[in-house]
Amino acid sequence: MTIAAPAHKRILLKLSGEALMGDDSFGINRATIVRMVEEIADVTRLGVQVAVVIGGGNIFRGVAGGSVGMDRATADYMGMLATVMNALALADAMDKQGLTARVMSAIAIEQVVEPYVRPKALQYLEEGKVVVFAAGTGNPFFTTDTAAALRGAEIGAEVVLKATKVDGVYTADPHKDPTATRYTKLSFDEAMSRNLGIMDATAFALCRDQKLPVRVFSIIKHGALRRVVMGEDEGTLVYA
Ligand code: UDP
Repeated sequence: MTIAAPAHKRILLKLSGEALMGDDSFGINRATIVRMVEEIADVTRLGVQVAVVIGGGNIFRGVAGGSVGMDRATADYMGMLATVMNALALADAMDKQGLTARVMSAIAIEQVVEPYVRPKALQYLEEGKVVVFAAGTGNPFFTTDTAAALRGAEIGAEVVLKATKVDGVYTADPHKDPTATRYTKLSFDEAMSRNLGIMDATAFALCRDQKLPVRVFSIIKHGALRRVVMGEDEGTLVYA
């Protein structure tokens, strides 16, 4: 019997803050985070190197009211700090489940986590540690999707995996339109011309220019991450 090898050696997984909320209205849902870490642990056991860019929407939601009328850059720094909280929670859950995680922050916060240093991140990945990139790009006016594209390109990830609650990109909202069908794959140009809004324009342009494919998949569907890594038909592939 031949054992199939993973289709990817190094992946960049973008987890939105919302992915950590489960069914809660904001914050971190412990059971959800534990389940997610199990999915990640599963693919690391296949020998796949995993880097994670974590969002902050779940925490920011809890304070969003207070940010009304606030200076945009200040609110964005709050958002970046929210991603640091998520990164700490995620890394803690990973450690508890036997994975070695290293959090690296794009903004200096050295008493809490180490700063992002590219060669060090690469070293950790080679050592089989999961690297969690916190604080997005470190700059206001950007998103963690852009951080995923940027870090994905920097570390030479073969694909950016955008985890969502839906198992791919659909012709219409599958919750509203039962006739909606999932795209198996489509090019960046097709995604743009059809206005599919897979990532924000900056993130999308970066991936397209770097010919870094993006796969949209469901993080709540059990085994989907493994299927993606094994190159099976899961989610939607956006290619250059
Ligand atoms: N953010 C930022 N620069 C970055 C990444 C994030 O300013 O490079 C801020 C921004 O305010 C954003 C928040 O952090 O709204 C949380 O990130 P994002 O919305 O991408 O998280 P997600 O929606 O994926 O949970």
